[in-house]
Amino acid sequence: MQTAAELAPLSTRKFADSLKGELILPADKRYGQARRVHNRAFNLRPAIIVRCANREDVIRSVEFARLNNLLTAVRSGGHSYAGHGVCDGGIVIDLSSMKRAAIDPVAQLVTIEPGVIEGELDCISQAYKMAVPLGSCQAVGVAGYSLGGGESSLTPRFGYACDNISRLEVVTANGEILNASETENADLFWAMRGAGANFGVATSLEFRLHPIDRVLSGHLKYPIRQATRVLKFIEGWAPTLPDELFLTLAVLPHPGERMLDIRLVWSGDEKQGERVLRPLRTFLKPFEDSIKTRAYLDEQCAGSDTPRDGDYSSHRRGGHFERLTDGAIELITEYASNSPSESSGITMMHWHGPWCAKPHDNAFGFRRVGYEYWVHSYWLKVAERKKSWDWVERFFAALQPQSTGAVYVNDLENEGLARVRAAYGDKYERLALLKRKYDPDNVFRVNQNIIPAP
Ligand SMILES: Cc1cc2nc3c(=O)[nH]c(=O)nc-3n(C[C@H](O)[C@H](O)[C@H](O)COP(=O)(O)OP(=O)(O)OC[C@H]3O[C@@H](n4cnc5c(N)ncnc54)[C@H](O)[C@@H]3O)c2cc1C
Repeated sequence: MQTAAELAPLSTRKFADSLKGELILPADKRYGQARRVHNRAFNLRPAIIVRCANREDVIRSVEFARLNNLLTAVRSGGHSYAGHGVCDGGIVIDLSSMKRAAIDPVAQLVTIEPGVIEGELDCISQAYKMAVPLGSCQAVGVAGYSLGGGESSLTPRFGYACDNISRLEVVTANGEILNASETENADLFWAMRGAGANFGVATSLEFRLHPIDRVLSGHLKYPIRQATRVLKFIEGWAPTLPDELFLTLAVLPHPGERMLDIRLVWSGDEKQGERVLRPLRTFLKPFEDSIKTRAYLDEQCAGSDTPRDGDYSSHRRGGHFERLTDGAIELITEYASNSPSESSGITMMHWHGPWCAKPHDNAFGFRRVGYEYWVHSYWLKVAERKKSWDWVERFFAALQPQSTGAVYVNDLENEGLARVRAAYGDKYERLALLKRKYDPDNVFRVNQNIIPAP
């Protein structure tokens, strides 16, 4: 692998001249900002950052990387928990400036370049009272999110974001442009939807849109001392949840006391939603009930469980429970009450509905009914790292006897092959064969890596 110092200045200058976008080297005053990713724990120093302006820049960057044997990281929104939008000593193919988008409201399709972030796509789609199922952190890149799966409050009803991709344009490891859809390069299309980072650089993504305008949504908050009672209620109630309902449970800080926070989003008929939510809203008086009808876009902008501002580093471990057993509830309340900081906790999303059950035909490997969870901790100062990290590891280890071993690939950090296999389950072997076909030299390996089949 090459470093910046080893790259021939002439070839680098020629490469820069061939680009419509920008090339940023370590001496550039923009370098410090350009190498940063969301998770500040990844303080890495690439040799070259290319801010691509179009797909030709992407092709040239992939070719330059191969020619110079450069480790290659691909970045859209830079929100990978594992820091996969940057690398040490190699090249970052940064797509964040590629922001063209086109919407066809009649055909209910939207096409975007990979620099579009979730908040931007929500605004474009909501102008027509439609939506692609997206998460609620506005700054996450639509490309990285959807190519790994893409979980949304609309998922129980309309599927994961990857299930809504109808066409892709992909720059492959050998610099070729391929279209991928049900009818063109169908095997690549299958692989890109769930394991996309491994198979090429998506330079255009087309999504199906769904009509959505207002939702009944908000939070129910309970003091942590009532968490056991509430979680037991949820466990009994969960099997009855209709597809229109999305439910997240999180232990979050609140001035004075930690709270069990239930986020609910009902996307169906409002009156029916009031009826469905009544048992939960009335069985025990919450500390706060902010559920009301609001614009879907307002709900999307309301935010996620991540601290909003500041140079946070984070550590997390993800998993899955089929059921919220008494044992799991006991561990959750015990560890949540002893967390190292206010921004440490556990979040659980309840998955139900047709998209969890049917064997939908793409690479996404986490179609599970039950509770996806992630234990997470954030810190600002290096001195806080160890206690945050250790708490996450202890909590995660304690949860393993209650867990199925399944994990959502976008929840992973750099946890090794066994965990990547767990994320893809029985789809891994087919993915390894397709990796051999489309990226036999494993050019795209700064990701949750699928090893090409021998
Ligand atoms: C605050 C926060 C909130 C989140 N909320 C949700 C949520 O609600 N639902 C959910 O499902 N996930 C959520 N995530 C996880 C998120 O989906 C993943 O971290 C996702 O990979 C981020 O995509 P990105 O483009 O921003 O990241 P990047 O770091 O740019 O990329 C992530 C991965 O995708 C690859 N990649 C990026 N662009 C392309 C491309 N165009 N072609 C090929 N490969 C590419 C990268 O190489 C890397 O391996 C959240 C993450 C954060 C930090």
